Amino acid sequence: MIISGPSRNNAFFQLKNSTNLRLKLKNGEILIKVGRTVTSSDKMLQQAILDEKITVNIATTTKNNVDGMALIGGYFAGNKKLEDGSINTLQIVNPEHTSVLDAIMFTRSGTYLLHELLESYIGGIDSPNAPPADTNHMDGYNVYLNAHNKAIDLDPHFQPLKTSYNNLTNTTTIFPKYSYDYRGDTPIKVNDYIIDHNK
Ligand SMILES: [Zn+2]
Repeated sequence: MIISGPSRNNAFFQLKNSTNLRLKLKNGEILIKVGRTVTSSDKMLQQAILDEKITVNIATTTKNNVDGMALIGGYFAGNKKLEDGSINTLQIVNPEHTSVLDAIMFTRSGTYLLHELLESYIGGIDSPNAPPADTNHMDGYNVYLNAHNKAIDLDPHFQPLKTSYNNLTNTTTIFPKYSYDYRGDTPIKVNDYIIDHNK
């Protein structure tokens, strides 16, 4: 399991919070320091990290869209099966989004980040050579949806989002959109929940 890109350390910080496993990051690779598993999501994460056939690649970004598709937390970019039978998955994740999503959905820090990892891994298990999620092409979308739903089932803490897209302003609003005092510190404003895909 590899984390790359400009927000790699932020992603790893959130991942550490999401699990009972004790993890370390070495040259972008996630390794297990102490293999303590309590929940089914811990077990699946451990399996993903130790899996020698499937490599989960988490590419972090600070952008709000991927090829013009809305990026809300993360984007399922599918996977490729190589000639030797191994599989490389790709999930594009914005860790600034995932931490805001945890805050507004009252989920434990790392819950959304972990979801993105598990979703990518499950796509690799169930759907080798999966295309990226694409609402215009149902094959890609259905593969994504299968992995997304299974990842939700693994984590009872996960709270699915409700979102609405405004195609006049090219923005997405995430519900519930109320002001929320994040850990008693800086209030997050309603505008923070509106993701501008032009950026
Ligand atoms: Zn998902």
